[in-house]
Amino acid sequence: MKLENPSPIEWKFSHRAEQLQSSAIREILKITMRPEVISFAGGLPSPETFPVDRMRAAFDSVLTRSGKVALQYGPTDGYAPLREFIAESLSTDGAKILPDQVMMVSGSQQGLDLLGKVLIDEGSKVLVETPSYLGALQAFSVYQPKFESVEMDDHGLVPSSVAAKGAGARLLYALPNFQNPTGRTLSVERRYELVDICARLGIPLVEDNPYGDLCYTGEPLPKMLTMNPGGVIYMGSFSKVLTPGIRLGYVVGPTTLIRKLEQAKQATDLHTSQLTQMVVHEVIKDGFLNEHIPTIRDLYSKQCAAMLEALGKYFPEGVTWTRPEGGMFIWVTLPKHIDANQLLAQAIEQNVAFVPGGPFYANEAETNTLRLSFVTVPPAKINEGVEKLGKLIKAKL
Ligand code: PMP
Repeated sequence: MKLENPSPIEWKFSHRAEQLQSSAIREILKITMRPEVISFAGGLPSPETFPVDRMRAAFDSVLTRSGKVALQYGPTDGYAPLREFIAESLSTDGAKILPDQVMMVSGSQQGLDLLGKVLIDEGSKVLVETPSYLGALQAFSVYQPKFESVEMDDHGLVPSSVAAKGAGARLLYALPNFQNPTGRTLSVERRYELVDICARLGIPLVEDNPYGDLCYTGEPLPKMLTMNPGGVIYMGSFSKVLTPGIRLGYVVGPTTLIRKLEQAKQATDLHTSQLTQMVVHEVIKDGFLNEHIPTIRDLYSKQCAAMLEALGKYFPEGVTWTRPEGGMFIWVTLPKHIDANQLLAQAIEQNVAFVPGGPFYANEAETNTLRLSFVTVPPAKINEGVEKLGKLIKAKL
Protein backbone atom coordinates (compact mmCIF):
# COMPACT_ATOMS: atom_id res chain seq x y z
CA MET A 1 0.00 0.00 0.00
CA LYS A 2 1.15 3.55 -0.69
CA LEU A 3 -0.44 6.71 0.76
CA GLU A 4 -1.52 9.36 -1.72
CA ASN A 5 0.07 12.75 -0.85
CA PRO A 6 0.44 12.32 2.94
CA SER A 7 0.37 15.76 4.61
CA PRO A 8 3.55 17.12 6.14
CA ILE A 9 3.42 17.79 9.88
CA GLU A 10 2.95 21.30 11.24
CA TRP A 11 5.44 21.43 14.08
CA LYS A 12 4.33 22.44 17.53
CA PHE A 13 7.39 22.90 19.68
CA SER A 14 7.49 22.85 23.48
CA HIS A 15 7.61 26.22 25.25
CA ARG A 16 11.17 25.35 26.19
CA ALA A 17 12.16 24.67 22.59
CA GLU A 18 10.48 27.86 21.40
CA GLN A 19 12.99 29.79 23.50
CA LEU A 20 16.07 28.11 22.04
CA GLN A 21 18.35 30.15 19.82
CA SER A 22 21.43 29.30 17.81
CA SER A 23 24.67 30.43 19.34
CA ALA A 24 25.64 33.79 17.86
CA ILE A 25 29.16 32.48 17.53
CA ARG A 26 28.25 29.44 15.49
CA GLU A 27 26.45 31.73 13.05
CA ILE A 28 29.55 33.93 12.74
CA LEU A 29 31.76 30.88 12.33
CA LYS A 30 29.81 29.86 9.24
CA ILE A 31 30.83 33.13 7.56
CA THR A 32 34.41 32.87 8.72
CA MET A 33 35.01 29.40 7.32
CA ARG A 34 35.97 31.02 4.00
CA PRO A 35 39.72 30.55 3.54
CA GLU A 36 40.38 34.22 2.69
CA VAL A 37 39.01 35.36 6.07
CA ILE A 38 41.47 36.04 8.92
CA SER A 39 39.34 34.76 11.73
CA PHE A 40 39.90 35.71 15.34
CA ALA A 41 36.35 34.52 15.95
CA GLY A 42 36.71 30.83 16.61
CA GLY A 43 37.00 29.20 19.99
CA LEU A 44 38.68 26.29 18.27
CA PRO A 45 42.02 24.97 19.46
CA SER A 46 44.80 24.89 16.89
CA PRO A 47 44.64 21.64 14.87
CA GLU A 48 48.45 21.77 14.74
CA THR A 49 48.38 20.58 18.34
CA PHE A 50 46.28 17.46 17.73
CA PRO A 51 48.35 14.31 18.38
CA VAL A 52 46.97 12.45 15.37
CA ASP A 53 49.59 9.69 15.25
CA ARG A 54 49.30 9.05 18.96
CA MET A 55 45.54 8.78 18.68
CA ARG A 56 45.77 6.45 15.68
CA ALA A 57 48.19 4.17 17.52
CA ALA A 58 45.97 4.18 20.61
CA PHE A 59 42.83 3.34 18.63
CA ASP A 60 44.74 0.48 17.05
CA SER A 61 46.08 -0.78 20.33
CA VAL A 62 42.73 -0.58 22.17
CA LEU A 63 40.84 -2.29 19.36
CA THR A 64 43.46 -5.01 19.04
CA ARG A 65 43.72 -5.70 22.75
CA SER A 66 40.18 -5.02 24.00
CA GLY A 67 38.01 -4.47 20.94
CA LYS A 68 35.00 -6.31 22.31
CA VAL A 69 34.93 -4.25 25.52
CA ALA A 70 35.64 -0.99 23.72
CA LEU A 71 32.77 -1.50 21.28
CA GLN A 72 30.25 -2.60 23.93
CA TYR A 73 27.92 -0.38 25.99
CA GLY A 74 29.69 0.88 29.11
CA PRO A 75 28.84 2.26 32.57
CA THR A 76 27.11 5.66 32.77
CA ASP A 77 29.72 7.22 35.03
CA GLY A 78 32.50 6.23 32.65
CA TYR A 79 35.50 3.96 32.12
CA ALA A 80 36.88 3.14 35.59
CA PRO A 81 40.63 3.34 34.84
CA LEU A 82 40.19 6.79 33.30
CA ARG A 83 38.11 7.99 36.27
CA GLU A 84 40.82 6.67 38.59
CA PHE A 85 43.50 8.50 36.60
CA ILE A 86 41.53 11.77 36.78
CA ALA A 87 40.77 11.40 40.51
CA GLU A 88 44.44 10.82 41.18
CA SER A 89 45.57 13.80 39.10
CA LEU A 90 43.11 16.10 40.90
CA SER A 91 44.22 14.93 44.35
CA THR A 92 46.64 17.80 44.94
CA ASP A 93 47.23 20.41 47.65
CA GLY A 94 46.16 17.98 50.36
CA ALA A 95 42.78 17.11 48.82
CA LYS A 96 41.79 13.51 48.15
CA ILE A 97 39.43 13.03 45.21
CA LEU A 98 37.95 9.54 44.81
CA PRO A 99 37.08 7.90 41.48
CA ASP A 100 33.44 7.77 42.68
CA GLN A 101 33.41 11.56 42.58
CA VAL A 102 34.26 11.62 38.86
CA MET A 103 31.74 11.23 36.05
CA MET A 104 32.83 11.22 32.42
CA VAL A 105 30.72 13.31 30.03
CA SER A 106 30.52 13.79 26.27
CA GLY A 107 32.39 17.10 26.35
CA SER A 108 32.14 19.37 29.39
CA GLN A 109 29.36 21.12 27.48
CA GLN A 110 27.22 18.09 28.29
CA GLY A 111 28.23 18.50 31.92
CA LEU A 112 26.84 22.04 31.86
CA ASP A 113 23.55 20.82 30.44
CA LEU A 114 23.30 18.04 33.02
CA LEU A 115 24.04 20.49 35.83
CA GLY A 116 21.22 22.67 34.55
CA LYS A 117 18.94 19.65 34.48
CA VAL A 118 19.56 18.63 38.09
CA LEU A 119 20.08 22.01 39.78
CA ILE A 120 17.96 24.63 38.01
CA ASP A 121 14.20 25.11 38.20
CA GLU A 122 12.30 27.74 36.26
CA GLY A 123 13.12 31.08 37.91
CA SER A 124 16.06 29.73 39.97
CA LYS A 125 18.74 32.29 40.68
CA VAL A 126 22.00 31.42 38.87
CA LEU A 127 25.09 33.55 39.39
CA VAL A 128 27.33 34.10 36.37
CA GLU A 129 30.35 36.22 35.65
CA THR A 130 30.08 39.43 33.63
CA PRO A 131 30.78 38.45 30.89
CA SER A 132 30.62 34.65 30.93
CA TYR A 133 31.03 31.65 28.62
CA LEU A 134 28.25 31.84 26.07
CA GLY A 135 27.88 28.05 25.87
CA ALA A 136 27.11 27.88 29.59
CA LEU A 137 24.53 30.65 29.32
CA GLN A 138 22.98 28.72 26.46
CA ALA A 139 23.03 25.40 28.33
CA PHE A 140 21.53 26.83 31.53
CA SER A 141 18.96 28.96 29.65
CA VAL A 142 17.08 25.83 28.58
CA TYR A 143 16.08 25.40 32.24
CA GLN A 144 14.82 29.00 32.41
CA PRO A 145 16.80 30.38 35.36
CA LYS A 146 17.00 33.99 36.42
CA PHE A 147 20.62 34.95 35.77
CA GLU A 148 22.26 37.29 38.22
CA SER A 149 25.42 38.88 36.77
CA VAL A 150 28.33 39.09 39.19
CA GLU A 151 31.00 41.76 38.84
CA MET A 152 34.48 41.08 37.46
CA ASP A 153 37.64 43.13 37.28
CA ASP A 154 41.17 42.46 36.08
CA HIS A 155 41.66 39.92 38.88
CA GLY A 156 38.54 37.98 37.92
CA LEU A 157 35.27 37.56 39.75
CA VAL A 158 34.73 40.03 42.62
CA PRO A 159 33.94 38.03 45.81
CA SER A 160 32.05 40.85 47.53
CA SER A 161 29.65 40.92 44.59
CA VAL A 162 28.94 37.21 45.10
CA ALA A 163 28.39 37.85 48.81
CA ALA A 164 25.98 40.68 48.02
CA LYS A 165 23.96 38.88 45.35
CA GLY A 166 24.39 35.23 46.26
CA ALA A 167 21.74 34.43 48.87
CA GLY A 168 19.42 31.71 47.62
CA ALA A 169 21.29 31.05 44.36
CA ARG A 170 21.28 27.52 42.96
CA LEU A 171 24.84 27.81 41.71
CA LEU A 172 27.70 30.14 40.89
CA TYR A 173 29.31 29.43 37.53
CA ALA A 174 32.96 30.53 37.53
CA LEU A 175 35.86 30.29 35.09
CA PRO A 176 38.95 30.93 37.20
CA ASN A 177 41.65 30.40 34.56
CA PHE A 178 42.09 32.38 31.32
CA GLN A 179 38.39 32.91 31.20
CA ASN A 180 36.38 32.54 28.03
CA PRO A 181 35.79 35.25 26.81
CA THR A 182 38.10 37.68 28.68
CA GLY A 183 41.31 35.70 29.20
CA ARG A 184 41.32 36.88 32.84
CA THR A 185 42.55 34.80 35.78
CA LEU A 186 41.08 34.75 39.27
CA SER A 187 43.71 35.58 41.90
CA VAL A 188 44.56 32.91 44.48
CA GLU A 189 43.35 35.03 47.42
CA ARG A 190 40.00 35.52 45.72
CA ARG A 191 39.71 31.76 45.13
CA TYR A 192 39.84 31.17 48.88
CA GLU A 193 37.42 34.03 49.52
CA LEU A 194 34.92 32.76 46.96
CA VAL A 195 35.03 29.19 48.19
CA ASP A 196 34.44 30.48 51.70
CA ILE A 197 31.56 32.77 50.71
CA CYS A 198 29.85 30.06 48.67
CA ALA A 199 30.23 27.52 51.48
CA ARG A 200 28.74 29.94 53.98
CA LEU A 201 25.84 30.81 51.67
CA GLY A 202 25.35 27.13 50.74
CA ILE A 203 25.83 27.77 47.02
CA PRO A 204 27.47 25.11 44.84
CA LEU A 205 30.47 26.69 43.13
CA VAL A 206 30.95 25.41 39.58
CA GLU A 207 34.63 25.65 38.61
CA ASP A 208 34.83 25.24 34.83
CA ASN A 209 38.45 24.77 33.88
CA PRO A 210 39.08 23.76 30.27
CA TYR A 211 42.01 26.18 29.87
CA GLY A 212 43.77 25.83 33.24
CA ASP A 213 46.66 23.75 31.93
CA LEU A 214 47.42 26.24 29.18
CA CYS A 215 49.37 28.66 31.38
CA TYR A 216 52.23 30.26 29.47
CA THR A 217 54.57 30.47 32.45
CA GLY A 218 54.77 28.90 35.89
CA GLU A 219 52.46 26.29 37.32
CA PRO A 220 48.65 26.24 37.21
CA LEU A 221 47.09 28.04 40.18
CA PRO A 222 45.40 25.92 42.88
CA LYS A 223 41.98 24.61 42.03
CA MET A 224 39.00 25.71 44.10
CA LEU A 225 37.97 22.04 44.13
CA THR A 226 40.92 21.27 46.38
CA MET A 227 39.91 24.08 48.78
CA ASN A 228 36.47 22.55 49.45
CA PRO A 229 35.77 19.25 47.66
CA GLY A 230 32.37 19.13 49.43
CA GLY A 231 31.15 22.40 47.92
CA VAL A 232 32.78 22.72 44.50
CA ILE A 233 31.73 21.11 41.22
CA TYR A 234 34.78 20.89 38.98
CA MET A 235 34.56 20.52 35.21
CA GLY A 236 37.47 19.36 33.09
CA SER A 237 37.87 18.71 29.39
CA PHE A 238 40.22 16.99 26.97
CA SER A 239 39.19 19.41 24.21
CA LYS A 240 41.99 21.92 24.70
CA VAL A 241 44.79 19.54 25.72
CA LEU A 242 44.15 16.70 23.25
CA THR A 243 41.37 17.23 20.71
CA PRO A 244 37.80 18.58 20.87
CA GLY A 245 36.44 16.20 18.24
CA ILE A 246 36.53 13.25 20.62
CA ARG A 247 33.98 15.03 22.87
CA LEU A 248 35.35 14.00 26.23
CA GLY A 249 35.15 15.85 29.52
CA TYR A 250 34.41 15.16 33.18
CA VAL A 251 32.47 16.48 36.13
CA VAL A 252 33.85 16.08 39.64
CA GLY A 253 31.86 16.67 42.79
CA PRO A 254 30.37 15.20 45.95
CA THR A 255 28.93 11.72 45.31
CA THR A 256 25.34 12.78 46.10
CA LEU A 257 25.50 15.18 43.17
CA ILE A 258 27.39 12.79 40.90
CA ARG A 259 24.78 10.03 41.41
CA LYS A 260 22.04 12.50 40.47
CA LEU A 261 23.98 13.63 37.38
CA GLU A 262 24.40 9.98 36.49
CA GLN A 263 20.63 9.51 36.46
CA ALA A 264 20.28 12.57 34.25
CA LYS A 265 23.01 11.32 31.92
CA GLN A 266 21.40 7.90 31.63
CA ALA A 267 18.33 9.59 30.20
CA THR A 268 20.46 11.65 27.83
CA ASP A 269 22.91 9.23 26.21
CA LEU A 270 23.34 6.18 28.51
CA HIS A 271 27.07 6.83 28.63
CA THR A 272 29.98 8.51 26.88
CA SER A 273 31.72 6.50 24.15
CA GLN A 274 33.57 3.65 25.78
CA LEU A 275 35.97 3.41 22.83
CA THR A 276 36.92 7.09 23.13
CA GLN A 277 37.48 6.84 26.87
CA MET A 278 39.68 3.77 26.51
CA VAL A 279 41.70 5.43 23.76
CA VAL A 280 42.22 8.60 25.77
CA HIS A 281 43.26 6.54 28.78
CA GLU A 282 45.71 4.66 26.57
CA VAL A 283 47.15 7.96 25.29
CA ILE A 284 47.56 9.69 28.66
CA LYS A 285 48.19 6.89 31.18
CA ASP A 286 51.99 7.07 30.98
CA GLY A 287 52.31 10.84 31.24
CA PHE A 288 51.89 11.92 27.60
CA LEU A 289 50.15 15.14 28.61
CA ASN A 290 53.22 16.25 30.58
CA GLU A 291 55.19 16.43 27.35
CA HIS A 292 52.33 17.43 25.06
CA ILE A 293 50.81 20.34 27.00
CA PRO A 294 54.06 22.40 26.99
CA THR A 295 54.05 22.30 23.16
CA ILE A 296 50.53 23.79 23.15
CA ARG A 297 51.52 26.44 25.71
CA ASP A 298 54.50 27.34 23.57
CA LEU A 299 52.51 27.81 20.40
CA TYR A 300 49.72 29.79 22.06
CA SER A 301 52.01 32.02 24.08
CA LYS A 302 53.91 33.02 20.93
CA GLN A 303 50.70 33.82 19.10
CA CYS A 304 49.30 35.66 22.09
CA ALA A 305 52.50 37.74 22.20
CA ALA A 306 52.15 38.46 18.47
CA MET A 307 48.60 39.67 18.97
CA LEU A 308 49.46 41.82 21.98
CA GLU A 309 52.28 43.41 19.99
CA ALA A 310 49.98 44.10 17.04
CA LEU A 311 47.30 45.55 19.32
CA GLY A 312 49.88 47.91 20.83
CA LYS A 313 50.98 48.95 17.36
CA TYR A 314 47.66 49.40 15.57
CA PHE A 315 44.86 50.02 18.09
CA PRO A 316 44.32 53.69 18.95
CA GLU A 317 44.26 55.29 22.36
CA GLY A 318 40.95 54.78 24.13
CA VAL A 319 40.85 51.10 23.31
CA THR A 320 41.89 48.69 26.09
CA TRP A 321 42.48 44.95 26.17
CA THR A 322 43.34 42.15 28.58
CA ARG A 323 46.81 40.57 28.78
CA PRO A 324 46.13 36.86 29.33
CA GLU A 325 48.69 34.65 31.03
CA GLY A 326 47.36 31.56 29.31
CA GLY A 327 44.49 30.17 27.28
CA MET A 328 43.13 31.32 23.95
CA PHE A 329 41.43 34.72 24.22
CA ILE A 330 41.97 38.47 24.48
CA TRP A 331 39.06 40.75 25.39
CA VAL A 332 38.93 44.22 23.86
CA THR A 333 36.96 47.19 25.16
CA LEU A 334 36.31 49.94 22.62
CA PRO A 335 35.25 53.50 23.38
CA LYS A 336 31.62 53.41 24.57
CA HIS A 337 30.11 54.79 21.35
CA ILE A 338 31.55 52.08 19.09
CA ASP A 339 29.23 49.13 18.52
CA ALA A 340 31.18 45.90 18.01
CA ASN A 341 28.39 44.44 15.85
CA GLN A 342 28.72 47.28 13.37
CA LEU A 343 32.48 46.95 13.47
CA LEU A 344 32.16 43.25 12.69
CA ALA A 345 30.02 43.90 9.62
CA GLN A 346 32.74 46.22 8.26
CA ALA A 347 35.53 43.87 9.28
CA ILE A 348 33.95 40.95 7.45
CA GLU A 349 33.88 43.06 4.27
CA GLN A 350 37.65 43.25 4.71
CA ASN A 351 37.91 39.54 5.47
CA VAL A 352 38.63 39.85 9.18
CA ALA A 353 36.36 38.36 11.84
CA PHE A 354 35.97 38.39 15.63
CA VAL A 355 33.14 37.78 18.06
CA PRO A 356 31.26 40.82 19.39
CA GLY A 357 30.99 40.77 23.18
CA GLY A 358 27.20 41.13 23.48
CA PRO A 359 26.22 37.43 23.58
CA PHE A 360 28.59 36.77 26.49
CA TYR A 361 26.47 38.87 28.86
CA ALA A 362 23.62 37.19 30.71
CA ASN A 363 21.84 40.47 31.35
CA GLU A 364 22.75 43.95 30.15
CA ALA A 365 25.30 43.66 27.35
CA GLU A 366 28.22 46.00 26.82
CA THR A 367 28.09 46.42 23.08
CA ASN A 368 31.53 48.06 22.86
CA THR A 369 33.39 44.83 23.67
CA LEU A 370 34.75 41.97 21.57
CA ARG A 371 36.65 38.70 21.86
CA LEU A 372 39.75 37.88 19.83
CA SER A 373 41.21 34.38 19.58
CA PHE A 374 44.80 34.14 18.44
CA VAL A 375 45.37 30.40 18.44
CA THR A 376 44.49 29.36 14.89
CA VAL A 377 46.07 32.34 13.08
CA PRO A 378 49.81 32.51 12.30
CA PRO A 379 51.66 35.63 13.54
CA ALA A 380 51.95 37.35 10.13
CA LYS A 381 48.21 37.03 9.62
CA ILE A 382 47.55 38.18 13.20
CA ASN A 383 49.49 41.34 12.38
CA GLU A 384 47.60 41.89 9.12
CA GLY A 385 44.19 41.28 10.71
CA VAL A 386 44.80 43.50 13.72
CA GLU A 387 46.12 46.29 11.46
CA LYS A 388 42.88 46.18 9.46
CA LEU A 389 40.77 46.25 12.62
CA GLY A 390 42.84 49.13 13.99
CA LYS A 391 42.15 51.20 10.84
CA LEU A 392 38.42 50.53 11.07
CA ILE A 393 38.35 51.55 14.74
CA LYS A 394 40.38 54.74 14.09
CA ALA A 395 37.89 55.74 11.42
CA LYS A 396 35.14 55.63 14.06
CA LEU A 397 36.86 57.87 16.61
N1 PMP B 1 33.54 25.58 29.08
C1 PMP B 1 34.21 26.56 28.49
C2 PMP B 1 34.60 27.75 29.27
C3 PMP B 1 34.55 26.47 27.13
O1 PMP B 1 35.22 27.48 26.56
C4 PMP B 1 34.18 25.33 26.40
C5 PMP B 1 34.50 25.13 24.95
N2 PMP B 1 34.68 26.24 24.18
C6 PMP B 1 33.47 24.33 27.08
C7 PMP B 1 33.18 24.48 28.42
C8 PMP B 1 33.00 23.09 26.38
O2 PMP B 1 34.06 22.25 26.14
P1 PMP B 1 33.93 20.78 25.66
O3 PMP B 1 34.58 20.71 24.32
O4 PMP B 1 34.62 19.95 26.69
O5 PMP B 1 32.46 20.43 25.58
